[in-house]
Amino acid sequence: MNRFDYVRADTVAEAVQAFAAAPGARFIAGGTNLIDLMKYDVERPGRLVDITRLPLGEIVEHDGGLRLGALATNATVAYDARVRARYPLLSNAILAGASAQLRNAASTGGNLLQRTRCYYFYDTSTPCNKRQPGSGCQAIGGVTRIHAIFGTSPSCIATHPSDMCVALAALEAVVQVSGPDGDRVIPFSEFHRLPGDAPEQDTTLKPGEIVVAVDLPERDFGQHVTYLKLRDRLSYAFALVSVAAALELDGDTVRTARLALGGVAHKPWRNREAEALLQGKPATRESFQAAADLIVAEAQPQAGNAFKVELARRAIVRGLEQAAAGTPQSITDKRIQ
Ligand code: SF4
Repeated sequence: MNRFDYVRADTVAEAVQAFAAAPGARFIAGGTNLIDLMKYDVERPGRLVDITRLPLGEIVEHDGGLRLGALATNATVAYDARVRARYPLLSNAILAGASAQLRNAASTGGNLLQRTRCYYFYDTSTPCNKRQPGSGCQAIGGVTRIHAIFGTSPSCIATHPSDMCVALAALEAVVQVSGPDGDRVIPFSEFHRLPGDAPEQDTTLKPGEIVVAVDLPERDFGQHVTYLKLRDRLSYAFALVSVAAALELDGDTVRTARLALGGVAHKPWRNREAEALLQGKPATRESFQAAADLIVAEAQPQAGNAFKVELARRAIVRGLEQAAAGTPQSITDKRIQ
C-alpha cells in the first residue's frame, strides 16, 4: 500500500503552499485520471492537495470572451449557454470525449493535465521513459495503434488524449496559472510540450504551479467550425485522429483558418503553414486537400499506426468541408468518405 497524506485547501495560496511543503505532492480535483494512475501504481504522490473547495468553478465574461474557472466541470462548460452559442467548437469537442459521468466530475484544469493513455505507461512491468525517465520506451517497436505520427522523439511516441484541448488549441485559448513565484499566463500552444528527451514533462508548468483558469478569446469562429473525432468505437473511446477546424469566410474565400489535430502527437498538433496556405483561397475540396497534404507530409509513423497518415489526411479535408458548410452539423455529416 502507498501511504499519502491529504490536505484540503480553501484558497489558491493555501493550495500552492500545501503543495510546496511536500515533495511529490499532487493537486486533486475530479480525480478522473489521477485516481486511476494511483491504482495502477503509476503515480505515488506523498500528498494529495484537494482543491475542490477553491472558488474556481465559475464561467464569467472576460475581455470580450469567456474565462473558464479551472474547477468548472467539463459538463458545466459544454452545456453553458454562452459556450454553446459562441464556442460550439469547444462544446462539441468536450461532448465527444469520455462519458456523461466522467464529464460531470472532470474539471477544466484536470482535462489539460490528463496523462497519456499509452498502454505501456500504465503497465509498470514495462520500460517507459515517461513513467520512469531513462528506462526506455516499450512502445517503439511495439503495439502502436494509438501512438503519435507527428513530433515524436526517440524517447517517446505517446499522444495527448484530450478532445477539449484540441478545440482550445484551435481557439488560441490562454491558460492562467498561479505558483510559488506568482501568477503568469501561458498561450495554449505553449502549454503542452513535445516529448524531446524529457517525456516525463507533459507541460511547461513550473513545479508547484496550479491552473486557475482558461481564457477563451473574443474571436469565436462560431459560424464555421467542426470537431470531427475518429475512433475505434462511437463513444467512450480516445481519438485515433480528431480535427478541430475553424474558418472565417468572405463569401466562398477563406479569410482565416485554424486547424488542430488530436490523437496524433504529444500535444494538440497545429501547422501554421497549412493555415496560412488556406488564407485567401477558395473554400473548396482542392484547397483543403492541399492543406491536408502539407500537414501529413511531415508525418513519421510507426509500423502499427501508418494508417493514421491517410486517416488524418481525409479527416482534415472532411473537417474543413464541414466547417465551411456551417455550424451545426449532424452526426451523419461526420461520416468519412
Ligand atoms: Fe512511455 Fe512514451 Fe514510450 Fe509510451 S510512448 S512507453 S508513454 S515513453
